[in-house]
Amino acid sequence: MEISKVGIVGAGQMGNGIAHVFAVAGYDVLMHDIAQENLDKALALIEHNLGRQVERGKLTEADKDAALARISTTTTLSEIGPSDLIIESATERESVKTAIFEDLVPHLTPDTILTSNTSSISITRLASRTDRPERFMGFHFMNPVPVMQLVELIRGIATDEPTYKTLEAVVEKLGKTSASSEDFPAFIVNRILMPMINEAVYTLYEGVGSVSSIDASMKLGANHPMGPLELADFIGLDTCLAIMNVLHDGLADTKYRPCPLLTKYVEAGWLGRKTQRGFYDYRGETPVPTR
Ligand code: NAD
Repeated sequence: MEISKVGIVGAGQMGNGIAHVFAVAGYDVLMHDIAQENLDKALALIEHNLGRQVERGKLTEADKDAALARISTTTTLSEIGPSDLIIESATERESVKTAIFEDLVPHLTPDTILTSNTSSISITRLASRTDRPERFMGFHFMNPVPVMQLVELIRGIATDEPTYKTLEAVVEKLGKTSASSEDFPAFIVNRILMPMINEAVYTLYEGVGSVSSIDASMKLGANHPMGPLELADFIGLDTCLAIMNVLHDGLADTKYRPCPLLTKYVEAGWLGRKTQRGFYDYRGETPVPTR
C-alpha cells in the first residue's frame, strides 16, 4: 500500500522525532497531542534539530524548510483518522493507548494502518481493541529517532503480510533498518536493555557503587557509549518503570521486579532529563549525580 499521509498521536520526545524523520523523507505529517503547548514545543524542537542537521551538512536549508512545511498539528484526535498510517506514541500506559485507538476507530479510512510505538505493551492486545487487528502493528523507534538506525517491527497475532511489507518499505524510505520481533513483552531491545538498567539501579540501591562509578564502569569497562543510569534518564524513568512492570507482569518471573529505588524516583517526579532531574540533576551547566 502507498503511504503518503502520516498521523502521529503524542508529540513528546518520541513523537517529535518520528514527525521529524517522516517529514524529511517526504511524508505529510499531522501531529496530535492533548495540549497546543506540547505541539508548539515539539515544533520548536523539530526546527532546532533540523537546524543542527543543516549545520552538520546533512540537510540543506531548503530541505529543512520543506520538511517543516510538511508538518501540521491538531488537538482534535478525529482529524488524524483519515491518515494512511497512524503512529500512536503517547504515554506508555495501556489505558491511555486503548482510549486513543477506540476514539480513532470511527474516523479511520478502510485502509488506514494503525501502529503503536509502545516499548513493551502487547501489540495483539492493543490490536484487539480496534476494528482492524490485521492492519495493526508495533512500530518501535529508538531514541533519539533522527539519530538511531533501528526500527523494530512487531507483528500481532493477526497482522497480515501486506501490512508488514508496507511498514518494511516505509522504514527503508526513512533510510533506517528494520528488525522483526515477535509480540512478547518488551520485544527484543527492551527485553535485554531494561533488565540491565534495572540491575544498575539495584547496584545503586544496594550501595555497590555511586551513580558516577556505575556509569563510568559500564562506559569504560564494557565500552557502552552511555552509562546505564545516564541512559535511564535519557529514556525517562517513568518509561523504564512502565517497561519493567510489563516484563514482570507479562513474564511472571521475579527476576524482572522493578527496583524500589526506581519507583521512588518516579514517585518524586524525578523522571530524568525531561523533568531536569533523575539520577542526575540537569538544572545547572553540567549534570550532577543525585546519589
Ligand atoms: P513523553 O512523555 O515524552 O511523551 C508522551 C506524549 O504523549 C506527551 O506529549 C503527552 O502529552 C502525550 N499524550 C498523553 N496522553 C495523550 C492522549 N490521550 N492523546 C494524545 N497525546 C497524549 O513520552 P515518550 O518518551 O515520547 O514516549 C512515548 C511512547 O514512545 C511510549 O509508548 C514509549 O514507551 C515509547 N518509546 C519511548 C522511548 C524513549 O526512549 N523514551 C523509546 C522508544 C519508544
